[in-house]
Amino acid sequence: MSATTAFNPFTMAQTQFDKIADRIGLDDGTRALLRSPLREYAFSIPVHMDDGNVQIFRGFRVQHNDARGPCKGGIRFHPLETFDTVRALSMWMTWKCAVADIPLGGGKGGVICDPHNLSAREQEAICRGWVRQLARDIGPVTDVPAPDVMTTPQHMLWMLDEYEAIHGGRYPGLITGKPVGLGGSLGRTQATGFGVVYCLREALQELDIQPQDTTASVQGFGNVSQYAIELYHELGGRTVCVASWNQAEQTSYSFRKADGIDLDQLRGITNRFGGIDKEKASDLGYEILPGEAWLTQEVDVLIPAALEAQITGESVADLSGRVRVIAEGANGPTTPEADAVLERNGVFVIPDFLANAGGVTCSYFEQVQSNMNYYWTMDEVLTKLDHKLTDAYHSVSELARKQKLYLRDAAYVLAINRVATACRDRGWV
Ligand code: GLU
Repeated sequence: MSATTAFNPFTMAQTQFDKIADRIGLDDGTRALLRSPLREYAFSIPVHMDDGNVQIFRGFRVQHNDARGPCKGGIRFHPLETFDTVRALSMWMTWKCAVADIPLGGGKGGVICDPHNLSAREQEAICRGWVRQLARDIGPVTDVPAPDVMTTPQHMLWMLDEYEAIHGGRYPGLITGKPVGLGGSLGRTQATGFGVVYCLREALQELDIQPQDTTASVQGFGNVSQYAIELYHELGGRTVCVASWNQAEQTSYSFRKADGIDLDQLRGITNRFGGIDKEKASDLGYEILPGEAWLTQEVDVLIPAALEAQITGESVADLSGRVRVIAEGANGPTTPEADAVLERNGVFVIPDFLANAGGVTCSYFEQVQSNMNYYWTMDEVLTKLDHKLTDAYHSVSELARKQKLYLRDAAYVLAINRVATACRDRGWV
């Protein structure tokens, strides 16, 4: 499940962008502006480790575009993080906020580190160090970070606390994904996974497929995956395979149960990073298969909800002919080579920046609540979220039908046109 070294997500993001820029005949100035980030920060974070040594961690923040509103996007803690990965993810955030039609731009951050091997105190020092390097470049009206891979509400709170100490005030709108009760929104934890399934529900309906007649295989068992599975099961679907990362062995495994996984049971034997305990799963009757096996299952629905570049030019050939829909929970899980094959084979792909836009949409709700210091009920949040994502899905799907476009291309056309219009209207291009 790890990204290969040869794969460059930023090249992939630019390839996707160029394809649509050509299609819509985007002028040269706008194209040059949008194919690279507006601002980029790379810096060192020195940390006094528990063993007495000082370790230097590399941190990043990239602000791709803020024509439609303050930059928005998560911070990833990952040992394989690269500046180019952050660049790509910041660009995808711009399209994500535009397609969801929320008044925000795109940003992303990261730190090269592995929280599996860091104490809570060391993680706190990284969070505070990250904010100290950026305290003047992020803010409630400029760039609003959030959680992403391996970052949590606790991390967000430490970051907020550091920012508030520096700026001398309370600024809950600085960051989203905060703990509920300390500026967080109800529903934020569920939002990304639920959003994936709101889109999946609409797609199945359009394809005239009943959710209760479908089975799914999911990659990843972190926050996004768990809540996607939860809602998919509520709709009547059955998940037969889940792949998860095994930290001790530095590899991933797929866990299969033909009559359907028991979500609560699996949650009970999973660590906070989404790693399922292999031995316990085996005792509970799960078949333990190689990490890639999630992709080759005879299922109707695939939900990649781990990292980028998982469905590639090579692995796409292993997909079973039965797969009808792929709902991309992760960012960038399908490479352009694989995408071309899926399009040719008529697989219905709900693209990442639409399918997983629930997280940032709920972050937007959190920001609104934080700024007015008044908080909504769970029901209010989830109802608003469902409306917003259902609307976004149908805007994309309608455009795809009208212009006979692959769904990813339709989402790109919509998003790029919205951002380009904002840049033009502001007089930037
Ligand atoms: N990290 C999430 C994403 O990739 C959420 C970003 C946010 O909430 O700002 O969409």
